[in-house]
Amino acid sequence: MAKEKLTYERKLVWDVFSDTEKNAAFDFASGYRRFISEIKTEKEAVTWAKKEAEKKGFSELNESRKSKKVYLAIRSSALALAIRGKRPIRDGVRIIISHVDAPRLDLKPQPLIEEEGLSFLKTHYYGGIKKYQWVTKPLSLHGIVVLKSGVKKEIVIGEKENEPVLTVTDLLPHLAKDQMEKKMSDAVDGESLNLLIASLPVPKEKDKKTPPVKNRVKEAVLKLLYQTYGIAEEDLISAELAAVPAGPARELGLDRSLILGYGQDDRICTYASFQAFLKADEPEYTSICLLIDKEEIGSEGTSSIQSGFLSFFLCQLAGITETELARALAKSYALSADVNAGLDPSYREVTESQNTPRLGYGTVITKYTGHGGKFLSSEASAEYMAYLRRLFEKHKVLWQTGELGKIDKGGGGTVAKYLARQNIETIDIGPALLSMHSPYEVSHKGDLYCTYRVPNRTYSYISIS
Ligand code: MN
Ligand code: MN
Repeated sequence: MAKEKLTYERKLVWDVFSDTEKNAAFDFASGYRRFISEIKTEKEAVTWAKKEAEKKGFSELNESRKSKKVYLAIRSSALALAIRGKRPIRDGVRIIISHVDAPRLDLKPQPLIEEEGLSFLKTHYYGGIKKYQWVTKPLSLHGIVVLKSGVKKEIVIGEKENEPVLTVTDLLPHLAKDQMEKKMSDAVDGESLNLLIASLPVPKEKDKKTPPVKNRVKEAVLKLLYQTYGIAEEDLISAELAAVPAGPARELGLDRSLILGYGQDDRICTYASFQAFLKADEPEYTSICLLIDKEEIGSEGTSSIQSGFLSFFLCQLAGITETELARALAKSYALSADVNAGLDPSYREVTESQNTPRLGYGTVITKYTGHGGKFLSSEASAEYMAYLRRLFEKHKVLWQTGELGKIDKGGGGTVAKYLARQNIETIDIGPALLSMHSPYEVSHKGDLYCTYRVPNRTYSYISIS
């Protein structure tokens, strides 16, 4: 009788991957690194995905509902894509969802100020950040300004080597005695996250009769903005501009096995799932790829998963009524593709060793998130977990289980619960990161590749029987 394997152990990707797979993982990571180096806002991600999808034969969803591969943008900040399956939509659909927003410093509606001969842009941070991590970094500015006429100006500054960057200053240690004694959460005040933007003034008026300009540096900045982009101070009120870490993502480690870069939560899942989705050619069930916005602030707002756009998209796609939709959703399955926190050996005390994911041990299946007593979590069923175990074993997808930290040490959530509310069987899956939500997050190339292989190998087959 064959010896039954009774104990369970995680496996290291490098012990399992063949040389070909290792090379494929490194190649895939190069494409990913280019993606996160360039794409730093949800709108940029949506524009990128639309363009890539069009190259693969996708077109905008319209009334005729003829096309097999379609997409629909939601206010240019979120995108739903579909590949029609062999079966009708009323048999259910297969969804993979990731979020394209990431923590950052948003400009306030009236951001521009001048103080002591320096000009600054005031910010209001977006998402859960440790504020002290965002000072003294080179930052770039990304986003749009919409003029009263409706004309949209796109702005990206600080990414190219010859472009200037912005920064938030911090106190020198010599004078930081009081600051250093504060709690970390209070050490850097939200209202002091101001971006240093300029120091050159407009020249002083030589003519004594003209009243002097009060804020000459601010005035010079406004002139520069008008000359470069055709915008005035009032136009900044109708803008979405954000400061993010400037420059490209980098290979990390002497062996180049890791990636250091901004916005990997959750664009690592966006890239992996979108690339895999594009390859789902003849799926059994209709395959849906959702790139959604506003996850980092609790999925609130018109471009978030709570806006109801998924139902709208499916009704449009299938030409079905709400009742028929409810039937279809009840038979649907979703992967909520989002990252988990990897065990950091320098901070072991916040994790419970056995249930915490490790970097390099494959993509992470998180059965439930939430905090203290599974509060506010969406828990995947044992049946769905078992099905995925079967499927991943069959298709040789390396995975591990994950839980977000020790009980009562904090916690977090994903969009899983909002899909579950629509009666869709849902599970969280994605790679583990280190330094999550910091300006420079760390991911593992092997885990990225395993995450890509989840939908690639399993997407169209998910069918529990
Ligand atoms: Mn996330
Ligand atoms: Mn997050």
